[in-house]
Amino acid sequence: MAATQKLACFRLPPLPTIKEIIKLYNLRAEKQLSQNFLLDMRLTDKIVRQAGNLKDAHVCEVGPGPGGLTRSILKAGAVDLLVVEKDIRFIPGLQLLSEAAPGRMKIVHEDILTYRLEKGFPAHIAKTWEDAPPNLHVIGNLPFSVSTPLIIKWLEQISNRTGCFMFGRTRLTLTFQKEVAERLTASTGGRQRSRLSVMAQYLCTVKNCFTIPGYAFVPKPNVDVGVVHFTPLAQPQIQQPFKLVERIVKNAFQFRRKHCRRGLEMLFPESQRQELTEELLRSADVDPTLRPTEISISEFRALADAYSMLCKENQGLIDYDFREELKFRHQAKRQLGSNCRGASP
Ligand code: SAM
Repeated sequence: MAATQKLACFRLPPLPTIKEIIKLYNLRAEKQLSQNFLLDMRLTDKIVRQAGNLKDAHVCEVGPGPGGLTRSILKAGAVDLLVVEKDIRFIPGLQLLSEAAPGRMKIVHEDILTYRLEKGFPAHIAKTWEDAPPNLHVIGNLPFSVSTPLIIKWLEQISNRTGCFMFGRTRLTLTFQKEVAERLTASTGGRQRSRLSVMAQYLCTVKNCFTIPGYAFVPKPNVDVGVVHFTPLAQPQIQQPFKLVERIVKNAFQFRRKHCRRGLEMLFPESQRQELTEELLRSADVDPTLRPTEISISEFRALADAYSMLCKENQGLIDYDFREELKFRHQAKRQLGSNCRGASP
């Protein structure tokens, strides 16, 4: 009896199906916005289950579109759902859903890349970072062009404990192109190991939950989709500023098939390149002949710590960019060439 009552309080009143909503409001998917909708409620329920228990939860759904995933979030028991949608055409259909769940759903017509979603939730739900995660979740089936820059922005916010991570270790359940989902979760030595694997895994426990075949979406995208769950770690595996870690990882992966030394040496100006690269690898105790994909997170930690020390000892090193040096040298060469031509009889 109690169980029946519990289910009943999460049940939504009869509503048009998502297919009917799409027809009713003429919500043709916009190709340039990479809109692909999920109409199968068993699938949207399965995505929402990956987030964990949503009873009495505060949730931000990014890109609700016609509202399939939104319904599953409400059915799962969220009491405070904030949806952020960029395309105004979806707002009337979402309002219909909001009326069916009185007081439980707020609609924001904004771009998630610029919207400050921490404004949307009450301060009292915050937990300290070391505590269990707060009852706040971010869930979304976004276009791939948005989900990758967004996860990089959120990883930086995790590192700085800003944005929706001001409330503590807010969990994220998001969709990515299958290959990106595999990169996010690839382990050391894996074929898909990349910058994204290291950046995500030093800050979070990352789980590739399941794959949704492209044909499950309307219209069908050319790729399959991976559902990925992130829980920020209480203790990040690398304790250096995000930008510094990003710099090391980006350089290390620059020449993916070469020894890691080749990419790492580009962290240093040409005049000191050999000497400082050797010092970096020696103090970090990292084998220079490892391929970037073979460097473990603890080795990246050692590299980041050693690089941070070198930056303290060598003024201006942190701002060094080899591309700038190359550009400057090319310009100087060109200038010299034109001077010589000008001087010839
Ligand atoms: N969640 C719906 C579903 O699963 O059927 C729609 C998914 S569709 C792939 C992506 C949705 O994200 C669209 O509704 C699109 O308008 C919205 N969207 C795209 N870029 C966005 C952005 N920058 N901010 C907020 N919403 C965005």
